[in-house]
Amino acid sequence: MTRAAKKPKLQVERFIQPSSTPAVKLIREYAFTNGCTTLQTGHVSLGEAALESEPSGSLYKPHAIQDWPGYNDWDEVSPSCDPPIITGDVLQDKRKEYAADNPLLVWLLDRQFFLDKTIFLEGRGHEGRHTVCLCGSEIEEPKYRCRDCFGMEMYCRHCTVERHQSSPLHVIEEWNGSFFQRTHLKSLGLRVQLGHPPSDHCYNPRPSTGNDFIIVDINGIHDVALDFCGCHTAQLRYKQLLQVRWYPATTTDPQTAATFNILEHYQLLSFKSKISAYEFYHSLARHSDNTGLSPIKDHYSVFMRIVHEWCHLRQLRRSGRGHDPGGIAETKAGELAVVCPACPHAGKNLPQGWENSPSATRWLYALFVAIDANFRLKRKAVSSD
Ligand SMILES: [Zn+2]
Ligand SMILES: [Zn+2]
Ligand SMILES: [Zn+2]
Repeated sequence: MTRAAKKPKLQVERFIQPSSTPAVKLIREYAFTNGCTTLQTGHVSLGEAALESEPSGSLYKPHAIQDWPGYNDWDEVSPSCDPPIITGDVLQDKRKEYAADNPLLVWLLDRQFFLDKTIFLEGRGHEGRHTVCLCGSEIEEPKYRCRDCFGMEMYCRHCTVERHQSSPLHVIEEWNGSFFQRTHLKSLGLRVQLGHPPSDHCYNPRPSTGNDFIIVDINGIHDVALDFCGCHTAQLRYKQLLQVRWYPATTTDPQTAATFNILEHYQLLSFKSKISAYEFYHSLARHSDNTGLSPIKDHYSVFMRIVHEWCHLRQLRRSGRGHDPGGIAETKAGELAVVCPACPHAGKNLPQGWENSPSATRWLYALFVAIDANFRLKRKAVSSD
């Protein structure tokens, strides 16, 4: 953060003061320097005298900064909150109430800080003061940051590309002077090479058709610059994609793929939260662009085809077809179906001698099949999903 400007504006807000704790003030300082706005939030312990000398007036009334303790005396954490013991009308109980009993009430004391911080981090945060990238290059400004990497550091274009050779699906933002704007590693110059380890160089790279390749991943839909390997040992294109856990949409000249991660994630969500594929896919599209100003090409039907194939493969795996010497071709009718554990199965969930039970109790081992108005095969024709 930039230190206070020459003539900073200071706003003071009264902190909630439990009667048993020392007087504490929450101070929020806004400074305007060279067109940049910075914000610092902190707490200051104040004596009785300071309290009495406090200028009267409404909250948020601006005061001169010299009226208040030095910046170095500020404490990021309220002294009254370590460890906070909450008393008062809200908590009338026989035993003492501790912070852990009411985390929401404790959080309320710092609510303003949380709000300020989330807004602060939408901008460059403390990174705004760096004019040179960590690599030392003075040619390029450090104006890129990654939403998926750990940390808030900003790097130059060259460093950003180098750091993402092994994570080409991270979301990159560029500082345009006023706010962060989403950009793509492709436009920064990153090319993804298949068929070789990330650090290796392919001597015969073959770009994807039209130099356009779409990857659907958990953090959105990505347009990447993809090179297939064209060496004499190279495998077919769809096999090169599968090798890096990207599921190709087609086996001939694929131009779209979904990561294994997103397919596993979608399958879990569809079971546990009953999310529909349509809602899921369009949430992903929103993840990429929530403004609708730069709509991306719809790949919903392609994604559905991949999901269809993926679920079928999962079925085959669960049924043990992957380890059968005969493979998929030897699968018998009904072999992929999951046997109903509630239905009667002789030798599994029926007692010995159930066939000889008297007619009065024989119904216990009968299979009852019911059908209701909605359970009809012809409903399969309603949706193409
Ligand atoms: Zn750099
Ligand atoms: Zn990253
Ligand atoms: Zn190669």
